[in-house]
Amino acid sequence: MDKRQHIVVVEDEPAQRQLLLDYLSRQGFRVTGLESGVGLRRLVEREMPALVLLDVNLPGEDGFALARWLREKSGRVCIIMVTAASDTIDRVVGLETGADDYIPKPFDPRELLARIKSVLRRANGAVAPAAGPRVRMGRRILDLEKRVLIESDGREETLTASEFDLLKVFAENPNRPLARDWLLETVGHREMEAFDRAMDLRITRIRRKVETDPAHPEAIRTVRGVGYMFVPPKD
Ligand code: CA
Repeated sequence: MDKRQHIVVVEDEPAQRQLLLDYLSRQGFRVTGLESGVGLRRLVEREMPALVLLDVNLPGEDGFALARWLREKSGRVCIIMVTAASDTIDRVVGLETGADDYIPKPFDPRELLARIKSVLRRANGAVAPAAGPRVRMGRRILDLEKRVLIESDGREETLTASEFDLLKVFAENPNRPLARDWLLETVGHREMEAFDRAMDLRITRIRRKVETDPAHPEAIRTVRGVGYMFVPPKD
């Protein structure tokens, strides 16, 4: 079986696409080049790649629309947007589409490779968290072994299974927009709360437990059109 990580390059400019494919395959990745979203949609039906390098200006659906669609399909796939110098894009716009990072054209291939490796490392960290058994979330600390939230004065609050599972997924995926559907699939408990707003209600509950001000959440943020993202405290 091919163990190499699969990177898909969506770029309509043939020379640019070939350059990226040659470079990335020399770096040990399995690569697929596609010229538009049509090909990407077809490929994703068969297999979800590890990472998609997405040009913003494409014929048909643009890169932003494709990123949003891809993020709804999978919370795990890594997405890096490739933007033209003329695009007035900031990090927020990139994150709202569900992208993990973006790189402006023209770019140094080594810079791109560094971004790719960093995004993949973060994603793989989700499987085996290096964060240790305790993760700071908002005003409290989640203890992954004892399955409790710890107050600043040391008091411990027990969590329901569904609250803990959700907090654990966030703790293992910091700074990563997680699609609402993907969260529902991943944390399960569907049989107990089989209605559309189940995830939003659960988020409201855990926000009350971890946020300093639940009305203005800073730890568990809403990513419009996608779902939610855990942002660890700054210091
Ligand atoms: Ca283009």
